Amino acid sequence: MTQNDLQVFSQIESEVRSYCRGFPTVFTKAKGHKMWDEAGKEYIDFFSGAGALNYGHNDEHMQEKLIDYIKDNGITHSLDMASTAKRTFLEKFKQVILEPRDLDYKIMFPGPTGTNTVESALKLARKVTGRTNVISFTNGFHGMTIGSLSVTGNETKRKGAGIPLHHAVTMPYDNFVGEERDTLDYLESFLENSGSGVELPAAMILETVQGEGGLNTARMEWLKKVDEICKQYGILLIIDDVQAGVGRTGTFFSFEPAGIKPDIVCLSKSLSGYGLPFAITLFRPELDIWSPGEHNGTFRGFNHAFVTATAALDYWEDPKFEKSIQDKAGIVEDFLRGLTQKYPALEGEVYGRGLMIGIKSAQEGLSAQIAEEAFNRGLIMETAGMDDEVFKLFPPINIAVEDLKEGLNILEDSIKSLVK
Ligand code: PMP
Repeated sequence: MTQNDLQVFSQIESEVRSYCRGFPTVFTKAKGHKMWDEAGKEYIDFFSGAGALNYGHNDEHMQEKLIDYIKDNGITHSLDMASTAKRTFLEKFKQVILEPRDLDYKIMFPGPTGTNTVESALKLARKVTGRTNVISFTNGFHGMTIGSLSVTGNETKRKGAGIPLHHAVTMPYDNFVGEERDTLDYLESFLENSGSGVELPAAMILETVQGEGGLNTARMEWLKKVDEICKQYGILLIIDDVQAGVGRTGTFFSFEPAGIKPDIVCLSKSLSGYGLPFAITLFRPELDIWSPGEHNGTFRGFNHAFVTATAALDYWEDPKFEKSIQDKAGIVEDFLRGLTQKYPALEGEVYGRGLMIGIKSAQEGLSAQIAEEAFNRGLIMETAGMDDEVFKLFPPINIAVEDLKEGLNILEDSIKSLVK
């Protein structure tokens, strides 16, 4: 990077406030798993827009469909109107995703982003149950607006926004106090006390793998037990699949291997397939007690996103697609485990599930240093966790195996250059 590039970059940074991730260059183009900056330097993208680009950049099939749609004067914005693009998406989502998984959900468009689906889920759960409290989990992340932030397990961010910590009850996530102690015992004793002044919650909201919170991963038995407890107390279970959904963990929904059917599911990020803002909230049909307009907004259901999201579902019609993601996840997991053994100075442990995976290093600051070194060598990835202690690999789920390996080799070279 030249001095001039750096100056341009700093100028951009100072004008757009509040970026938490520092990738010190200016990008121009991207295709599949690759990105290029203004200087023509090529990067392998294992960041994937924090899970918004699960199919990589500018997927050819989605791009063609979108261009055809725009050239044909397809409707862009159609607030509260039916459109063919919307109908086609809804039909295909039901046929390709919900029905084969035996899931019966109503679909609503809560607004364009992840936080909008979370807000709608919380509101719906409160309205349906007539209760107000929500249980969320340590290190969980659900968004930056007041409601979603109040269930985000990050004290600094909540306090910064003036949200009192008792607004939502934060419970220890799976493994929070170590594998030997079942965090659900704690939750159950809390709920058992509901007669003595503890208000029963409307909902529990959780991620099956905590994307921002450090790739902490709930075990399937733990999820099943959470589901049982929710049923026992009439609490609605909200799975926030904004980051872990759309194939990231190896199945379309991250909760599928647990065999549970959450009451409400939040999806966004990669749902449009093409990086366009798009979110949906899925909920059991019995929960549909909203009157028309009770949750509305101008940008709910963007037709261009319907077009690309429909094209993205073509991937899911191929019966081999899920297996191919799982196979690649196996390759990455084995590789990362190998790294933790080969480089003991990493003091690393593999975290995450599927292609939402990384290494937590006990060496303070090392994960961030590795991500920085990898960036200099042309591999983009990010860090996660309260102290950025985890470096996180999010390759596109449709990446070719040889391209995946190329990225992993850059990662190993970066580690090798930093730890002996
Ligand atoms: N839920 C989860 C699990 C997320 O990871 C995020 C974003 N990182 C959100 C909600 C909020 O999504 P958005 O940034 O699109 O509002």
